[in-house]
Amino acid sequence: MSIFQERRDKLKRLVKKSGADAILVTYVPNVAYLTGFTGDSSYLLVSDDRTLVFSDARYTTQLAEECPDLEAEIRGPGTTMVQLLGRALPGKFARIAIEAASMNVALHERLTAEFSQIEFVSSTGLVEELRMIKDKDELAAIRRAVYIAERAFGVAKAVLRPDHTEKQIADEIEHQVRLFDGTCTSFPSIIAAGPRAALPHAGATRARLGDQEFVLCDWGAREDLYVSDMTRVLVFGKVSAKLAKIHDVVHRAQLAAFDVIKHGVGLAEVDRAARKVIEDAGYGPKFGHSLGHGIGLEVHEAPRLAADQKDQLKAGMVITIEPGIYLPGWGGVRLEDDVLVTKNGCEILTHVPTALEECVVV
Ligand code: ZN
Ligand code: ZN
Repeated sequence: MSIFQERRDKLKRLVKKSGADAILVTYVPNVAYLTGFTGDSSYLLVSDDRTLVFSDARYTTQLAEECPDLEAEIRGPGTTMVQLLGRALPGKFARIAIEAASMNVALHERLTAEFSQIEFVSSTGLVEELRMIKDKDELAAIRRAVYIAERAFGVAKAVLRPDHTEKQIADEIEHQVRLFDGTCTSFPSIIAAGPRAALPHAGATRARLGDQEFVLCDWGAREDLYVSDMTRVLVFGKVSAKLAKIHDVVHRAQLAAFDVIKHGVGLAEVDRAARKVIEDAGYGPKFGHSLGHGIGLEVHEAPRLAADQKDQLKAGMVITIEPGIYLPGWGGVRLEDDVLVTKNGCEILTHVPTALEECVVV
C-alpha cells in the first residue's frame, strides 16, 4: 500500500468520526500530502469507498505520472470546478466535510447553492492533524531541506561584505539554495540589519549593511515540497557587550526549551520554559511572538508552541524553536532551529553554529 493510501485511510477514520460521509479537500498542501500531486488548483474527494481528484486539463499527464492509482475527473476549458464536482457529488453523499479554515466564502456559497441536497459541514484541521507527525520519507526531505539551507547560508556568509545590501544577502541565499539543488527558498528571506532587526518579519531592503553592528538572517530551503526554517545573527567586526548579553539570553532561552522537549510535554510548557529565561533577564515584554511552529509541507503548520495551546508534543513532530528579543531603535536577536520531537527528548536537525564568535563576518 502506498504511503498516500495509508494517509487517506487514516483520514477516512477521522472523517467518519466527524459524522460526515466524505471530505472535500481543497487546500493545496493537503491535496499534495494525500496524493503526492505537486500541481495546484485541484480538489480531492475522499470517502469510504472512493478517492477522486478533480483537476483541469493542464494536469492530466502530471496526475497520471504522479498519482497513477488515483481516479481523476478532468475539466476542460469552459467547465467550472463546481460543474465538475456536479458529475460526482449529487445523489452519493448526504454530508460532506469541507475545510473551513481554507475554503473561501465564494466557493462555499457556490457549493451550497448548486448542491442543495448535500449538507456541507465545517471541519478544521483533519488533514493537518495527520501532517503533524512526520513519517520517514518526510523526515528525510526535511533533513535535505536543512542541509541545502545550511550549505547556502555558508556560502552567502563567506562572500558577504559590509558594503552589500540586505537584498544582496537574500538574493545570494536564494541563488545558493538553487545551486545546492533546492527548489527555492522556503519563503522570502528575512534579512534585517541593525535597528531593522527589531522588526521580527522585516523584508530585505536595499539598505546597505554599512556600519551596522549585525544583521539578522531568517531563511530556509524547499526541497521535494518540504521546507526548513532557521535564524541566525551575523556580526560585522567586534561584538558589543549589549549584543553579547542579549544573544546570550536568547540562546539560554532556546536551550531551556530543548531541555524540556519530549513526547507528551505540553506545547505551552515548552513556550513557558523559554519565555521564563527571557522574563527573568528582564526582557519579557520584548519577546512578542510564540516560541515556534511545525514545519513540513508549509513553513508554518501545526502545532503552534504558544501559551494558549492545550495539546502535547508527540514523537515525530518537527518544530522550530525561535525565541527572540526585539528592542525598537536598536535591533533584535532571534535564534531559530528545527527540532525533531522524540520519545525521550529531541534531535536538533539544524547545525549552523550559534555561538556569536562563529557568526562574525570577516
Ligand atoms: Zn524563520
Ligand atoms: Zn519560523
